[in-house]
Parts: sequence; C-alpha cells; structure tokens
Amino acid sequence: MPTTVFNYKDGKLTTNDIQLEELVKQYSTPLYVYNNDHIIDNYNQFMKAFDNKCTVHYAMKANSNQAILKSLAVVGCGMDIVSGGELNRALSAGVDAKKIIFSGVAKTDDELSDALNVGILQINIESEAEIYQLNNVAKKLGKVAPVALRINPNVDAGTHDKISTGKKTDKFGIDIDLAISLYDKMITMKNIDPQGISIHIGSQLMSAEPFVASYKKVAELAEKLIKNNINLKRLDLGGGLGICYKTSDSAPDVNEYAKMVFDTVGHLNLDLHFEPGRWLVGNAGALIGKVENIKSNDLKTFILCDVGMNDLVRPTLYNSYHHILPLNEINEYINADLVGPVCESGDYLCKNRKIAKMSKGDYFAVLSAGAYGMTMANNYNSRVNPAEVLVVGNKSYLIRKRQNIDEIISRDIIPPVI
Ligand SMILES: *Cc1c(COP(=O)(O)O)cnc(C)c1O
Repeated sequence: MPTTVFNYKDGKLTTNDIQLEELVKQYSTPLYVYNNDHIIDNYNQFMKAFDNKCTVHYAMKANSNQAILKSLAVVGCGMDIVSGGELNRALSAGVDAKKIIFSGVAKTDDELSDALNVGILQINIESEAEIYQLNNVAKKLGKVAPVALRINPNVDAGTHDKISTGKKTDKFGIDIDLAISLYDKMITMKNIDPQGISIHIGSQLMSAEPFVASYKKVAELAEKLIKNNINLKRLDLGGGLGICYKTSDSAPDVNEYAKMVFDTVGHLNLDLHFEPGRWLVGNAGALIGKVENIKSNDLKTFILCDVGMNDLVRPTLYNSYHHILPLNEINEYINADLVGPVCESGDYLCKNRKIAKMSKGDYFAVLSAGAYGMTMANNYNSRVNPAEVLVVGNKSYLIRKRQNIDEIISRDIIPPVI
C-alpha cells in the first residue's frame, strides 16, 4: 500500500481509529485530512537515519498549513521557503528565523530584505545576477547576507519533466562549472558571505543514482572551494526523496539514503541540511470526496464527484497516480474514470482504473494527497477551497475553514462607470 495511515477497521476507512466518515459528517466534502502523528514519525525517522547529525528544513510549499508548520517546528524542524508569503507564514506559525532557508528563482528586493531583516539562516542564490542584487539589498540594510549558491549539476533526476530541476534546460540553479569563479567573486563582496553549497535536482526521485551523481559533484566542488580558502560551513542537499503512491512503487529507503550521503560527502565534515517536502507529508494526507452521480455510455463509465482539479491538480498536471478507496469498504470493482465537476476534460482523479463499484452518495478517499494538494488548490469555476482537518492522536481538529464564496467574490471591484 502507498500508506499505512489510512486503513479499514470493520469495513470503515479510519486513521488513528477515527472513522473518516465521522469527519465528513462534521465538516462535509471535499475535505483534506492529515495525520499529524505520521508527519512527526517521518521527521523522527529522517533524523534517526542521520543519527541526528543534520538539520531538516521542511519544504513548506508541499503543505503550508500553519498547524503542520508549528507541529514540525516544535520538534526542531526548520523550513525551506520559496517566497515572501512563505516567510510570513513560517514566522507566524512560530518557526525560528535562524532555521529558515530561502530558495527560489526571481526573488524580489523586498523579499530579500525581509529575509535579511528577520535574520534567516541562508539565502540560496540561483543566478549570477542575484548575487549582485542581494549584495545591493544587504548593503542598503547594512547587513551581510549568509548565502549558498544553488548548483545545477546537469543531472537527470529521472522524474516527471515538470518536477525536474537539475538539468541545464531547467531554470533552476547555477551551472556548476561557473561556481568556483562566482565563489571567488563573492568573497570579495562586503555584504555577501558564502557559507554553503546548495542543490536540489527534482522531486519524487525513486532511485538513488541521480542523488549519488549530484552529491559527488557537490563534494568535488566543496573540496576545490575549501582549497581556495572559501570558509564553507554547510551543505544543503535539497529534498526530492520519492514516496510510494502505488502499491507496486518502491521508494528509496531513508536509511540507505543517509548512508549514501555520508559515503559521498561525509568526509568533508560540513554541517548537513536537507529540504524534504513530499517525503514528510505526502502519505500523511487524504482528500475525501463524494460521488454525486454515475453515467455510462457504450465505451465508458464516469463516476462524477465533488472533487475537482482545482482541489487536487496532480493527476492532470503530472499524470500522477493516487490510490482511491471508498470510506465504506466495497469488494466489487468496475472499470471507470473518477471525474470532477470542473468544466475541463482534464478534470479527473483517475482514468480507466479498476476502482471500487461506488454508488451515488458514497464517499471516497484519495490517498497520498498530503503534499502538493491543498497548496496548489485554486478557485477555478468559482469553487471554494476545501477545509482541512488534522488528526492528532485520537482527536481531530479543524485547521483550515472551508473557503466562503463571499470571500472570493468580494475581492472583485466593479468600476462606477459600469
Ligand atoms: C520543492 C523543493 C523541495 C522539496 O521537494 P520534495 O520533492 O517535496 O522533497 C526542496 N528544495 C527546493 C529548493 C524545492 O524547490
């Protein structure tokens, strides 16, 4: 199974013994449900794999609900942010600025100065121009910016094109061959302090090879920089660890990943930092929906439900597979498409799938929806964003209210001349 957190007890889909159907009665659908215990277990497992000799900066774009940020922060986790919005979100959830790393191309002057003003750990620079931009911003504030260059190693992560970030043809990072000269330049700049090297080659990596290839390149670069008297303190080795979505998937083992990291970069004795997103939260979440109607023609059966691509875009954006289970166990199957209400043919949760034979009014769970689910939700078709519930031990808590249509339409302004 892709996850062990959602399972049947006496024919009812549960998490921590809480029946998902009870949550639906309370909060309606579409509804995101996350298991906090699983997220914290994952964090602890990651730390244990590294013998606690690393710092985790959760890539909060995977799931940025403040309840989850807070929950991770209190066990010692830092954050990887990619915007000023995420900086604010992390700080208001109580994350220590000293544990925040700022990645992302096209940062604005305002975002950089906010990050410097609150004193974050590190800014990951993604282009030569950003070095000069940041130096100017830091100079105005009278500050020295702690930075790492995000290296593009030109390694194929072997993942979906839209989540590959480590090839020359991807927009991310700086060509590894230019790195040495840029570090030499940076140490002459008064308001820039190069402290690390960062890398992140893509998401949902299912094999170790691309990690090994790129970490070896990072190690070679680090050795050269140290020889050149660059005072490196840390390596930020990114995220990207894949998870199982399908029963037949086999994701990398975190202990083997840790061993590989020590084998490739351990000899450098630098602080190790990681930015897992999906790996911490992906399998801790499910999106619950309801079957509204069913229709068939001579070629197909469509199960029509209340979950749209605006609630979970992954199936249509990445062609991704999500396991789907009815909340009340059904042992009869049909071949069908489970599709949403949005007016797009790309609005589906699965296509041509052998799926439980559900009827109108049945509820179902889309598993492995904890990462890149709610954070990518939007209001297409004027549909409101789902509510979110967090299960902690044997209790459940509403952690985000369902959006209200008035909130959305009240943002429009009709000019008086119309
Ligand atoms: C998205 C992202 C991550 C997290 O990727 P996962 O596959 O979710 O682990 C980490 N670092 C950076 C820079 C990212 O952009």
